[in-house]
Amino acid sequence: LAKERGKNNYQFYTLAMTERSLERMTIERGLRHALAHDELRLHYQPQIDSGSGRVVGVEALVRWQHPEWGLVYPDRFISVAEETGLIVPIGAWVLRTACQQAKAWLETHGPFNCVAVNVSPRQFMETNLLQTINQTLAETGLPPGALELEITESAVMQDPENTLQVLHQLQQLGVRLSIDDFGTGYSSLTYLRRFPVQSVKIDRSFVIDLPDDEGSKTLVRAIIALAHELKLFVVAEGVETAAQLSFLKSQQCDSLQGYMFSKPVDAELLKPGLMSAEFDTSASNQPI
Ligand code: C2E
Ligand code: MG
Ligand code: MG
Ligand code: MG
Repeated sequence: LAKERGKNNYQFYTLAMTERSLERMTIERGLRHALAHDELRLHYQPQIDSGSGRVVGVEALVRWQHPEWGLVYPDRFISVAEETGLIVPIGAWVLRTACQQAKAWLETHGPFNCVAVNVSPRQFMETNLLQTINQTLAETGLPPGALELEITESAVMQDPENTLQVLHQLQQLGVRLSIDDFGTGYSSLTYLRRFPVQSVKIDRSFVIDLPDDEGSKTLVRAIIALAHELKLFVVAEGVETAAQLSFLKSQQCDSLQGYMFSKPVDAELLKPGLMSAEFDTSASNQPI
């Protein structure tokens, strides 16, 4: 019986593996097609200054408009893109498109801080990222200070010496740098001091249980205090409720991003008024 079950488990296991690798191959083939046929899209999610309620920046988030599957979200394809190296051309496309869009916003909407673009570990390791960014800024005419790159701690940790060197070069270029999903990595404290970054983004997993969960409250308080001590700007991601907003404001979190203000949307939707809108960040009737 044990032998029989073992065999079944084995078959089940290989079947699952085969399905998984087939899915990944389908995604990989699809992504090559997407790049060649202009199926990638960017959505932008505003970042709101917690004091004034003004939009201080936007994060560019990639989507894939698949002819049959509809709009595909990055969680389904970024890891395949990373593994296959396709993240390099995809990342270059994202960068160019976001910079072009930001340049257009700068011209039509005046004071606009920056567009944030996510950069994967592999983009640091495999390409001359510095050159790609330099060239993209030159071609689009976007001032370096209007571009922010979001990197995760784990990205830096994959090859700390090389990544830190590139980060220092990027900083000299005038590009802003931020640490994404902050708090989920391993070496926050040791490395944070060495990262030439201007801001950290508190991961959504710490925001989601605010303000009821004591552990989340303690962590978020500590992260904000630490970041401010290091003269870093703090952004909270995944802000969905007035109670979360209220707690984050009470802790002097600098800016906020989340469905409470806006989901990531098409650039067209941001144009009419959102870019110059003032959001209500008072949440005054909400108990902490
Ligand atoms: P991320 O950079 O941490 O982006 C934040 C994610 O949280 C986005 O998911 C955003 O839509 C979502 N989000 C924002 N506010 C809320 C909220 O209030 N509630 C909830 N439930 N979710 C919220 P998205 O767009 O699906 O992106 C997922 C991840 O994929 C990103 O996480 C980023 O790591 C990666 N990604 C997206 N675009 C790119 C890209 O152009 N290049 C690379 N390398 N990675 C990307
Ligand atoms: Mg991000
Ligand atoms: Mg994040
Ligand atoms: Mg995330």
